Amino acid sequence: MTVTVVGAGIVGCAIAYELAARGADVRLIDPRGAGQGASRASAGMLAPRIEGHSVALLQLGLASLDLYDNFVARVVADSQRRVEYRRTGTLQVALTDDEARRLEEQHHALTRAAVAHSWLDAAAVRRLEPSLTDAVVAGLLIPGHGYVGVATLISALSDAAGRLGASLSSTEVREVSSASGGVRIDTSDGALTSDVVVLAAGSWSGGIPMGSTPSPPVRPVRGQLLQLRFERPPLSHVVWGGLGYLVPWEDGRLLVGATVEDVGFDEGVTIDGLQQLLACAQTLLPAAESARCDGARAGLRPATPDELPIIGASSTMPGVYYATGHYRNGVLLAPLTAVMIAELVLDGRERAESVLVQPARFGL
Ligand SMILES: Cc1cc2nc3c(=O)[nH]c(=O)nc-3n(C[C@H](O)[C@H](O)[C@H](O)COP(=O)(O)OP(=O)(O)OC[C@H]3O[C@@H](n4cnc5c(N)ncnc54)[C@H](O)[C@@H]3O)c2cc1C
Repeated sequence: MTVTVVGAGIVGCAIAYELAARGADVRLIDPRGAGQGASRASAGMLAPRIEGHSVALLQLGLASLDLYDNFVARVVADSQRRVEYRRTGTLQVALTDDEARRLEEQHHALTRAAVAHSWLDAAAVRRLEPSLTDAVVAGLLIPGHGYVGVATLISALSDAAGRLGASLSSTEVREVSSASGGVRIDTSDGALTSDVVVLAAGSWSGGIPMGSTPSPPVRPVRGQLLQLRFERPPLSHVVWGGLGYLVPWEDGRLLVGATVEDVGFDEGVTIDGLQQLLACAQTLLPAAESARCDGARAGLRPATPDELPIIGASSTMPGVYYATGHYRNGVLLAPLTAVMIAELVLDGRERAESVLVQPARFGL
């Protein structure tokens, strides 16, 4: 079976890999190459208990996190590349009594749900992370969370997919339409046909004409991210505070995120954004003042009206599948999305989570 995946972000690369690993003949298309959209700016946090703002999103996030260990192990084996991936936990900190009260409510909810976590007073937070500001009054540690180095994962995914026979072409898809015996894809390099097309073009998914089918309702939400460098890691956990979060890498790099901005398709980094991120870093981690600045980047999170992704078969165009709209959780949800699409395309099998993300809810 020939499958064309439109868009080589984390979602498209994960799908291409999973399909190629199961024997499909995969072509991945992206004018910018692999991982240059929103995925390039991502902090790579795997934290469904923090980011799962609805019951459905939490269910999706937990299901995908469960797949992560095995997913990374397979990709590393198939690519022979190193991927930075650690389940060192998240530490949410409160700097005010109000924040502490909200965190304590979360602690009670986690206790009721029998989720492994620890509620920490100020002294315990200081023992765990001595570099954090003295202003911390309480903390909540969730040890099952983690992070992945997104650039390393995307390189490994595209290498592994390539070794399994997939190709990556740097052209732009201009239109997708029905054709006899398959799906037609018009690109900047000419027309192709394929048995199946998977639309995984992130924030740009709504801009690709699809015959008479409406465009997916995906809009861009910009996020800016700052990268600092220390001689050695200043923290041992991902830290969340009121103004943002800090993700420490093994080599001393520290990601500081992130802004949330409605500015259309502008992928620029701004002074305003940098000021917000610097304030976050300096408030939580006083030592940030003497860190090196490694640069900043911005990406467009693909948001849908209900903030849930769109994953599944088109109800109007045979052979067309959607994997888009992952908003703030595309990295976390990549393994689950890839398995859902691969099982659906190759075996016609729907996982339990499919009902939460049906394209038909938007008339697609
Ligand atoms: C600052 C920031 C921090 C984030 N932190 C996290 C986090 O900690 N954890 C997490 O899980 N998520 C996080 N996210 C969200 C995550 O990055 C996104 O959900 C994810 O990257 C979406 O992946 P994608 O592959 O759908 O889109 P993208 O990475 O945007 O990829 C879409 C691709 O489609 C291509 N494309 C566009 N038009 C066409 C066309 N016509 N033809 C062919 N290709 C096309 C683009 O070039 C692009 O490469 C963060 C996002 C930002 C911005």
